[in-house]
Amino acid sequence: MRPEELLALDRAHVWHPYGPMPGTDAPLVVESAAGVRLRLADGVELVDGMSSWWSAIHGYRHPVLDEAARRQLDRMSHVMLGGLTHEPAVRLAARLVEITPEPLQHVFLSDSGSVSVEVAIKMCLQYWRSVGRPDKRRLLTWRGGYHGDTFHPMSVCDPDGGMHSLWRGVLPEQVFVNDPPPGASCAGEGADPGYLAHLAEAVERHAGELAAIIVEPRVQGAGGMRFHCGCYLRALRELADAHDVLLVFDEIATGFGRTGDLFAAVGAGVVPDVMCLGKALTGGYLSMAATLCTTRVAEGISRGSVPVLAHGPTFMGNPLASAIANASLDLLLGQDWAGEVRRIEAGLRSGLAPAADLPGVADVRVLGAIGVVQLDHPVDMAVATKAAVAHGVWLRPFRDLIYTMPPYVTEDHDVARIAAAVVAAAEVA
Ligand SMILES: *Cc1c(COP(=O)(O)O)cnc(C)c1O
Repeated sequence: MRPEELLALDRAHVWHPYGPMPGTDAPLVVESAAGVRLRLADGVELVDGMSSWWSAIHGYRHPVLDEAARRQLDRMSHVMLGGLTHEPAVRLAARLVEITPEPLQHVFLSDSGSVSVEVAIKMCLQYWRSVGRPDKRRLLTWRGGYHGDTFHPMSVCDPDGGMHSLWRGVLPEQVFVNDPPPGASCAGEGADPGYLAHLAEAVERHAGELAAIIVEPRVQGAGGMRFHCGCYLRALRELADAHDVLLVFDEIATGFGRTGDLFAAVGAGVVPDVMCLGKALTGGYLSMAATLCTTRVAEGISRGSVPVLAHGPTFMGNPLASAIANASLDLLLGQDWAGEVRRIEAGLRSGLAPAADLPGVADVRVLGAIGVVQLDHPVDMAVATKAAVAHGVWLRPFRDLIYTMPPYVTEDHDVARIAAAVVAAAEVA
């Protein structure tokens, strides 16, 4: 197909994320991708600063992942998980149990992050129903979060960013507390006592109706790329325990090393009752997510009057995605992934530093392989994207943010190039 023809059909028929119909901005046509480079239809190559939304941690067309996919294709790309099972899914579940905190023992494999959050919420609500406390059915979260675009996850996204006003009367009304104090660590200063009191007051007041607290640990991603100290996660754990509330960590963006810890929960020294994983799970090859829970939650559900977890997506445990996820985990854990993330962190720190002096820049922050430049005004997305592309880099700014989370295989000179593109985009946007 000629590019003009392709773009005309795209505009007429293909929804893009958060887009109108017909489409308004012309997307770039990608012909192929390899390593950390996207190859466009016109032959231009761009270094990928986005890892296709946190997922392609090993880059594109990685020979190990390609080979795992081919080997699995020769056996079966899919069979149902109802009444059947297979090694790729079993191995993956066992592996996830092994690498996550010990109390998380049971794994529900689904097809996307939003669904894994739906499943996490269903687990919590059903747990309390099963143990005779059906009034515990609301969720508490802090503002500024993002948990997916289906309805229950949307109900715990930031009320403004998630446009809750549009959905009044449709979304379940959850309990919101203020977003956590900013800063990846509160270091010598310790946790903000005023904020701790605010959390405690809200949990105490709503304990009787709360099924769970759900948050993204350490990094609020699509809700605003904000970082917070692990001490607030420890506070949530203590409050949850004290008031008979479950704790859910959505590690869909933070999981698999992105923050410098394999899981943000581990770095913070907190074990949630339920944990969601997705995005980088298959190294960005296929859509797959997982919801892990403790034996207490699993057994609570299974002792209820409806003694099953009533959820079972068609493509649950998809063998092809599972096989690739297994290969991706082997690849990740078989190398010094933490060293690679630290290397990228150092590159982003030095490369993004010049942005702090630019007019219109409100904040520059880096945590693990995540680099963020926040402006004091909304980004002109078209202008910012164009500036990054002119630097040979693919970025997708949003709201007041120009940010990157590159693949872990990005070499130093490409990290420098990405950082320079972020700075250039901030300069013109
Ligand atoms: C992306 C994301 C989701 C949603 O995952 P999808 O696969 O897009 O449905 C949920 N929670 C967090 C923290 C995410 O970053």
